[in-house]
Amino acid sequence: MTDDTLKKVFEKIDSYEEQMIELQKGLTAIPALGPTNDGEGEIKKAEFLKDWLEKEIGFDSIEEYDSPDDRVPSGKRPNIIAIMKGKRSDRKIWVMAHMDVVPPGDLDLWNTDPYEVKVADGKIYGRGVEDNQHGIVTPVFALKALKELGIQPEYDVGLALVADEETGSEHGIQFLLKEHDVFGKNDFIIVPDAGVSDGTMIEIAEKSIYWLKVHTVGKQCHASTPEQGINAHKAAAHLITRLERLYEIYNQRDEVFDPPISTFEPTKKEANVPNVNTIPGDDVFYVDMRILPEIKIDEVHATVEKLAKEVEEEFGVTIEFSSPQRDEAAPATPADAPVVKALAKAIKDVYNVEAKPMGIGGGTVAAFFRREGFNAVVWSKIDELAHQPNEYTKIENMIGDTKVFAHLFLQE
Ligand SMILES: [Zn+2]
Repeated sequence: MTDDTLKKVFEKIDSYEEQMIELQKGLTAIPALGPTNDGEGEIKKAEFLKDWLEKEIGFDSIEEYDSPDDRVPSGKRPNIIAIMKGKRSDRKIWVMAHMDVVPPGDLDLWNTDPYEVKVADGKIYGRGVEDNQHGIVTPVFALKALKELGIQPEYDVGLALVADEETGSEHGIQFLLKEHDVFGKNDFIIVPDAGVSDGTMIEIAEKSIYWLKVHTVGKQCHASTPEQGINAHKAAAHLITRLERLYEIYNQRDEVFDPPISTFEPTKKEANVPNVNTIPGDDVFYVDMRILPEIKIDEVHATVEKLAKEVEEEFGVTIEFSSPQRDEAAPATPADAPVVKALAKAIKDVYNVEAKPMGIGGGTVAAFFRREGFNAVVWSKIDELAHQPNEYTKIENMIGDTKVFAHLFLQE
């Protein structure tokens, strides 16, 4: 790719501003909610998109892989795979984005109709414009620019526009990975579904997530005669302070993550007795743990049990555990993987910033790829408005990210 080619492509992309907004309008007007969110699924949005891709760009192939789901009227959850041939086919450059959105939530919190795009101050507003239509529109217009200029991508480029990301991905990327053989181990996989506002985070790893519900059982009695009961709340409070030791026991550091340590935080507290003069016989609190991938959840749990045993013996309570969420971290994409380097180079050339491979404390859809041995990365330049009222994306970021994808598709 010469500087001249790149300049031409970037100029072309600059000219697409209105068309990008138009596509965002069309997509936003079709609320693709999954059945768990009382929606009819993604079928209408998928039809609209396929049509648009065929008419406005033209691909070498556009296929739909439907995951059967009788909870939606169409009986299927569509996944679109569109391929544009490159000069070489020994690697594909994939961009995966999801078509479904989350409900708008409390409409009073919106200044505009969530399903009607509004443009103001260089931003476009509407449910889904960032999560994840920003990630659909940007690779799509990068390919449109190449196609209209008659420039072939260096490698084959694949778009995977999937269903069901917001409610577990069973009918989306999990279905594709299980039932169809579309991705290759040598491929680049970019998921533009999270990011930071300066575009410098390339997400490559995540921590394990372990939530624990801790139920402490003592014996209720009048608060004036505590010796007649067992104060479950007091015992639980002792356990909470003991859990602080987890920070010392599991003090490994990994600078890819921010924060670079595992975290063990007591969070939610369920109400116990309604009145002040009763000793509670029951206590429930929760712990949110984000654990570095090198530490096993089982190991941490065994330590928690040991600390609880001490409290049980000291106070005469019984402590029971259950876990509302437990996700062992997927293996990380190596920080020096070719996809990370190529993406960082494109980001540098477009935005003039140094993007860094990083880990985060929450799960992303890229974990499904990583568990299957694919080196997926998550990146986009967004203000992180996902799932919020007045969701927006900046037009300049839409155009910039489109350039980053075009750059990536042209790299040798
Ligand atoms: Zn998303």
